[in-house]
Order: sequence, then structure tokens, then C-alpha cells
Amino acid sequence: MKKLAKSASCPLCGGSFVAGRTTWSVDLGKGVLVVRDVPARVCDQCGDEWLDNATALALDEMAASARQRGALVEVLTMAA
Ligand SMILES: [Zn+2]
Repeated sequence: MKKLAKSASCPLCGGSFVAGRTTWSVDLGKGVLVVRDVPARVCDQCGDEWLDNATALALDEMAASARQRGALVEVLTMAA
């Protein structure tokens, strides 16, 4: 589940974003990938988390290579 931040304020409630970190997970079909310390924009009102486009692309690559490795459960950390 990924939501791209395309605006400067939260599309749901109009709140402001603050820089934060989140844990992102994806179902690979056969396995599950969890990525910790993912940079995200967090709404200061509703707490919803949004990703930058570059971050979303990096997560896609991590998911693709985890799927290739056939990992059942893999936990990675995204470097800053
Ligand atoms: Zn919000």
C-alpha cells in the first residue's frame, strides 16, 4: 500500500506534513517484505503517511528483488 504525496498538504484533511519515518510492508504473493525506517511525510492532523515518488520507486525495487530471492519473510531497513 503506497500513497504518493503530490501536494504540500494532506489531501484528506488539509493538515500539514512533517518529515517522519514509517514501516512499509508488501505482500509478495509467496512471501512478505517489511521495510523499516522508510522516509515519509506524516500529516500533523490525521497522522496519515505519504511517500515521495523516489521512495516509492525504491520500495518497488526492493520488493522486486525480494520476490526474485523467493523470500518468505524479509525485513529490510531503508537507509537515509
Ligand atoms: Zn491529514
